[in-house]
Amino acid sequence: MLSIFVETSCNRYNRDECVDCHVYEPLADIPKSDWHMTPDQARVMAEKIGQVDVLNTLAQQEINLTGGEATQNPHIVEIFKIFKTAAPSVCLHTNLEMNSKSSKRWLRLVEILKEGGRADITLYPTAWEKFQKPLLKELITIQNRMIVNVIFENLPHLQMQTALLTNFFSEEGSDFGHVVQLLKDYDDKVSWLIKNQPDCDEAIYTTHMDDTEAFAHGKKFTLGLSLLPAFKVGPKGIRSMTSLPFPRDPYLIHCPAARGSIDIMTIRQTGEMTPCCDVGNLKCQPEFGNLLTDSPDKIMAKFKESSKKMSTGIEKNQKNLKSGQSGKWVEEGIPPYCG
Ligand code: SF4
Repeated sequence: MLSIFVETSCNRYNRDECVDCHVYEPLADIPKSDWHMTPDQARVMAEKIGQVDVLNTLAQQEINLTGGEATQNPHIVEIFKIFKTAAPSVCLHTNLEMNSKSSKRWLRLVEILKEGGRADITLYPTAWEKFQKPLLKELITIQNRMIVNVIFENLPHLQMQTALLTNFFSEEGSDFGHVVQLLKDYDDKVSWLIKNQPDCDEAIYTTHMDDTEAFAHGKKFTLGLSLLPAFKVGPKGIRSMTSLPFPRDPYLIHCPAARGSIDIMTIRQTGEMTPCCDVGNLKCQPEFGNLLTDSPDKIMAKFKESSKKMSTGIEKNQKNLKSGQSGKWVEEGIPPYCG
């Protein structure tokens, strides 16, 4: 999958439209020209994707447009159409934190769904009742498949969020019975852990949850559920070594690129690329080229060179973990939580 940023993260997502926030953090240091991807930039990227085999293969799986909040990009409908020429499936991630159905952000989203796109969301309990729930009710009448991301800080937090979804889909009738069943399966498993292993580590959690399906397929609707542990991020934007729900062991990211295989690529709106789902807070330093400015040959050369550097870096990370030096940054610039 290719994950493409079309929007800067401004953290003011409940606004119905982007307004001049340039005097405030975090936009203060970012030139206004970089806040929203433009259709011209999207065109260059889409064309270049077709010229770089590795990227083209990933695009044939799916292109995911994200941000920041992708619907806040005023050109998002046109950008969607441009990327649709490079991939059979283009989805858009949204927080659904919009004030109403008359929000321009919602109208853009509907336009994209009509054009064959798919919207995926991350559940935010603080935005659920007021913003997400009423619009999700609409969304499931317009599209018949979606992924919901659930970020959890501990097991009760996870259970509380799956309960929000269970209650929601229970009210939607028999077409969503299979979705409710999947959510109940999760609830059963998480309840068991809370009762019997409340301080479990990640290995116990993973083993216990392992055989639970990620998708509830139905004739009229398919839901994908993605459960993601949350991390503390320090004042300098550096992620901690352990996740919040499982704080006893380092939470390691398996890096396919360090093993010579590129399974996912994240492309910032500036064109810079990272071969994992990092949204910038991991601070991975090896460069994989710039999709806007580099030639296909230069991009391929960087893929090769940086994959080698990553391989050396993760070896050192693994040694550091074994020798009690977890968290130490290696000279290759590979984050210490990558192995
Ligand atoms: S080393 Fe880590 S941050 Fe860098 S690409 Fe691999 S998984 Fe991502």
